[in-house]
This record gives sequence, structure tokens and C-alpha cells, in this order.
Amino acid sequence: MRDPVSAYIGLGANLREPAATVLGAMDDIAALDGVTLSRRSSLYGSAPVDSSGPDYVNAVVEVQTRLTAPQLLAQLQGIEEKSGRERPYRNAPRTLDLDLLLYGDATILSASLVVPHPRMNSRAFVLRPLAELVPERVSAASLQSVMDQAAWRL
Ligand code: AMP
Repeated sequence: MRDPVSAYIGLGANLREPAATVLGAMDDIAALDGVTLSRRSSLYGSAPVDSSGPDYVNAVVEVQTRLTAPQLLAQLQGIEEKSGRERPYRNAPRTLDLDLLLYGDATILSASLVVPHPRMNSRAFVLRPLAELVPERVSAASLQSVMDQAAWRL
């Protein structure tokens, strides 16, 4: 059997009780077959960046998984669907967004999956909670470049 891989998942919600949505999604991730949730960051608040609507609640979790990266993404998309995500147009407000940020040391470039997540280094609401869990995976230069973005620990 494959050795488990450490992966990092970014969570975000900005509609319908976002903190409860993010905490519920953490429990849904922990309940996935082939996934063990090992650590959770604090919850953060952030203002919408490329999106609209009320403030977001964001967090990052660390999992150990024997799933492949595409299998893990498919499971995360199932959780998004379950949470009633509606996307009438690009970057519309969403009930729950789950991003696969890092999958071990893998670099993946396919049509449906890019890892490390292509926009993670430009988003304070990803870098700050990720740095709580794995400071060695977040460069000082990246943190510096998002210094002006509002993302506050709740
Ligand atoms: P969004 O809803 O804006 O997060 O975009 C979801 C789309 O991004 C899906 O079609 C995914 O296949 C694609 N995608 C590519 N790379 C990733 C990733 N690392 N994590 C989550 N979704 C990804």
C-alpha cells in the first residue's frame, strides 16, 4: 500500500454561518475514507478578494492520506457539493470553497488540478493559517508580499 502523504487543504466560506460551515467541513474531511485529519489552524476572517459578499471565514487543515491528489480533490468537491455550493457565475459568492494547497512535495499540472495551488502565495488568508501549521513551507517573502491584506485571527 502507498505510504500516507501530508496534504494541506484551504477552507473558505462566506455565506450562511461561515464559521459553522468551515468547522463542519473540517469534520467532513476528517470523516473521509483514507484521510486522517492531523491538525487544524485557527479560524481567520478576511474581506473578499476576487469575489463579493460578506467577509469570509478561512482556515487550513493538515491531513495524512493514502488517496492520490486527484482522488482527494474529488472527495473535497463532494463535500463542497454537499454544502450546497451554488456558482451562478465565476467568482460568485460561495457557501464553501475547498482548495488542495499542497500534496506532499508534489508538483502537479493537469487540466483539473494544479498543486501547489496557483494562487496560494498571493493570499494572506491562505498563507497565515498555513504558516501556523508548517512555517517552513511559507516563505518570508510571500508573507511580506501579502502584508497589506486583511486576514485576522478570529
Ligand atoms: P474554484 O471553485 O475557483 O476554487 O475552482 C475550482 C476548480 O479549480 C475546479 O475545477 C478544480 O478542478 C480546479 N483546481 C485546480 N487546481 C486546484 C486545486 N489545487 N485545488 C482545488 N481546485 C483546483
